[in-house]
Amino acid sequence: MEIRNFVIISHVDHGKSTLADRFLDLTQSISSRKMRPQFLDMMDLEREKGITIKMQPVRMKYKDYILNLVDTPGHVDFSYEVSRSLAAVEGAVLLVDAGQGIQAQTLANLELAKEQGLVIIPVVNKIDLPQANVDQAVDELAKLVGVDPKEVLRISAKNGTNIEKVLEAVIEKVPAPKINKEPFRALIFDSIYDSYKGVIAYVRVIDGELKKTDKIKLVAGKVSADIKEIGYFLPEMSPQNNLSSGEIGYIATGIKEPGKVRVGDTIIVSKAEALKGYKEVRPMVYASLYPENPDDFDVLKEALSKLKLSDPALIFELETKESLGRGFRCGFLGTLHAEIISERINREYGLDLVISSPSVVYRVDDKLIYSASDWPDHLNKSEEPWVDLEIITPVKYMGKIIELLKNLRGEYIRTDYISADRSVLIYEIPLREIIVNLYDQVKGASQGYASMNYKFIGFREAKLLKMDVLIAGTKEAAFSKIVPEEKAFAEGKLLVSKLKDTLPAQQFSVALQAVIGGKIIARETLKAKRKDVTGYLYGGDYSRKRKLLEKQKKGKKLLKERGSVRIPPKVFLEIFRS
Ligand code: GDP
Ligand code: MG
Repeated sequence: MEIRNFVIISHVDHGKSTLADRFLDLTQSISSRKMRPQFLDMMDLEREKGITIKMQPVRMKYKDYILNLVDTPGHVDFSYEVSRSLAAVEGAVLLVDAGQGIQAQTLANLELAKEQGLVIIPVVNKIDLPQANVDQAVDELAKLVGVDPKEVLRISAKNGTNIEKVLEAVIEKVPAPKINKEPFRALIFDSIYDSYKGVIAYVRVIDGELKKTDKIKLVAGKVSADIKEIGYFLPEMSPQNNLSSGEIGYIATGIKEPGKVRVGDTIIVSKAEALKGYKEVRPMVYASLYPENPDDFDVLKEALSKLKLSDPALIFELETKESLGRGFRCGFLGTLHAEIISERINREYGLDLVISSPSVVYRVDDKLIYSASDWPDHLNKSEEPWVDLEIITPVKYMGKIIELLKNLRGEYIRTDYISADRSVLIYEIPLREIIVNLYDQVKGASQGYASMNYKFIGFREAKLLKMDVLIAGTKEAAFSKIVPEEKAFAEGKLLVSKLKDTLPAQQFSVALQAVIGGKIIARETLKAKRKDVTGYLYGGDYSRKRKLLEKQKKGKKLLKERGSVRIPPKVFLEIFRS
């Protein structure tokens, strides 16, 4: 049987996982009893949040073909998942929501797919939506991919309209994988940890054949192992006797040290050269994670090294702070990524965490600074990371979006047009200004129609200062942050008022102060608790945060004592987002 390997890529929510469901139906891969919407979103967290976080491979049979599909996430913070899965396939279905048109990750993911030389199959989804302008979406997509509008497929993943046409196009247009001879080589594009089978590598076999009785070697990891099991994803793991060139599957290595198996490494049997791996990702956003209970340090360490297997963009390094004990300074691809990781640690490992404000990487006198606590007292030159920011928006929301970007110290570069009424605003802007909530604000200002993407372009000089926070006169290192001089007062004020709104009242009144270079720049007082006060309210806007906070309320009796003021972990999370 011939093989076709492909991914579905798109902006978030354009219907990738739902289209994957229809493929599973059509190929009768899942019994109807087991079927549920967005079947390939297998983590509870994915189902609750309604977003795909992890790529998920699945092998299907259709007519005389074996179809290996990889469903991918769409959010910018998870683009490393997308780029890794692209290296395992020959083609990509590029999906565009007819009600939304082309959005920022449509462009970004298409670019990644083109870099890999993949065949692109343009598809417009959600043609059932009454408000959708299907013809316009088709025209935009045809222009973008460079094909005749007639070649763009029109489907409804929800209703199952024209799904066969997509599979037919995959079979017709995506080339069969090259079948190469021995020696065996497979590229690791993902991995997970299993307590019985050790590290399970997700692989694309490039050359040769592997038998389950073979002994394998990892080229970069420099380890050998006896195979525990090999097989395919149906999508659950299904053991097989061999895996051959062109196929996608898994190899359970039995290796128990997570650090030994890295994505991008090559698995071989006899002597063979390494395959071209992946570009290392360079996280630009850092936050410190500490266990609430210092005794849990080892659990946190284990949790991070296991999570890194399925999320290689995560990086972490040991860090020690007087007030918090031992923890890790972690690098993330963005704040959603940081949030997802801390939630996974909480759920999958039962750990309560203290999290510092996420911060970008700064450069001071040519040294990289990852945390406000490492900021030197004396310095000559400080620099911060800048990014190229692209916001795609219907023209009618342009004014509002430009307004949002006004105080973010960026530079307007130009406006491009995708069509008469959709534009791409291009800015160069400091990363620190956009990581926390610009994404939500852009959505809010455009009724969900605008979207953004950014790319690191380099460090630029800036006047930066370290701001500390004193709670009842005690410095709370986790709240320290680096601020640009011109925004110091505004940010200090915002931070202490946010603290005032989120900290639970104490038996006595508490001074909250923001301090720069020993000078108090902002101050609030948290009033003492009245007898009848049983709860407290949160300030600010928090639709999405609320669910999280409510969950965290449950079963949290242990609050860390900090001097005389108790700071619940949710306060850290809340401040993190201001
Ligand atoms: P993904 O983020 O690209 O994986 O998107 P999902 O498959 O999770 O779908 C996002 C939302 O769009 C879900 O609420 C789906 O039910 C909905 N959706 C997907 N396909 C269609 C479609 O063809 N028509 C309509 N009306 N809704 C759809
Ligand atoms: Mg999805």
